[in-house]
Amino acid sequence: MAVTESNWAPWLERLYDLRRDKRGSHERPHKPVLLLAILDLLDRGILRGNQVPFTEELESTFRRFFAVVRSRDDQPTIEHPFYFLSGDGFWQVFAAGQSEPLYRKGFAGGAPSAAQLRRKSATGRFDESLWALMSDPMARHQLREALIARYFPEHHDQLAALSARQWSPDRSESGETLLPPGRDAAFRKTVLGLYDHRCAACGVRVLLKSQLSLVEAAHLIPFSVSRNDRPTNGVALCPNHHWAMDSFLIAPCPDSRSRAGIWRINERRLDDRIEGQRDLMSLAGKPVLPPRETMYLPAPEALRWREDHLTIAD
Ligand SMILES: [Zn+2]
Repeated sequence: MAVTESNWAPWLERLYDLRRDKRGSHERPHKPVLLLAILDLLDRGILRGNQVPFTEELESTFRRFFAVVRSRDDQPTIEHPFYFLSGDGFWQVFAAGQSEPLYRKGFAGGAPSAAQLRRKSATGRFDESLWALMSDPMARHQLREALIARYFPEHHDQLAALSARQWSPDRSESGETLLPPGRDAAFRKTVLGLYDHRCAACGVRVLLKSQLSLVEAAHLIPFSVSRNDRPTNGVALCPNHHWAMDSFLIAPCPDSRSRAGIWRINERRLDDRIEGQRDLMSLAGKPVLPPRETMYLPAPEALRWREDHLTIAD
């Protein structure tokens, strides 16, 4: 199958923005781990056709991946993502012999227990066009890379080692792993949504029609360095401030009072007698405008990276 950006972009945008539990202060790993476990079963030839039964094999694979990425009070409860992934609109769960899915929109109570899912011989099914992508070994590899970059960048190598048998064929000579086309668009859509299309430096917000926005999504630690597409490694900026940050003239830096950080400027490289530079200098000490959800505030290590490079770059 020819895998092009038009196949990919809409799926990546949804997979980069899986519906989440808004009560918590941290992003739960369950849904992306379930997806990684299913990709692994596919690689091992265990799944055939667009049917993902709730089996011991799936549970144990899920727990293996989960053990790598869990943090805080995360519990390896596969029944939750198996059921609630239905809310993302590309996955449905059926009990054996039933044509009505278990999860119905607007009528979702608690998830069935694992024992109930086993007893019902529950089976999950993907949207056909996503399934077509997942059925292609190369696309599957790219999909896994994208999920890891978005949700678990700090665990990339451990997760890769868990699936080591299947990764080698399409790794390039340099060890670079291939990423799917449309990855940038998915990062952009997620970050701009969280910042409500507003520049985190000057606050400008220009939204034309639904999608066309003047504001850009910038990586705090560049993707080439971090392979990190998590929204906490991103910030929305207008083109001017994006350019100035990437030129290390300004930087969002850690601050004890502002949780999103404050802007600092490179005083040695900016001159307040020059008009364009005067505008950049006026940012000094201003707070970084925060994203809508506190769980996606800029990561402290990403702010420190920017602070370090502001002074190194002379
Ligand atoms: Zn701006």
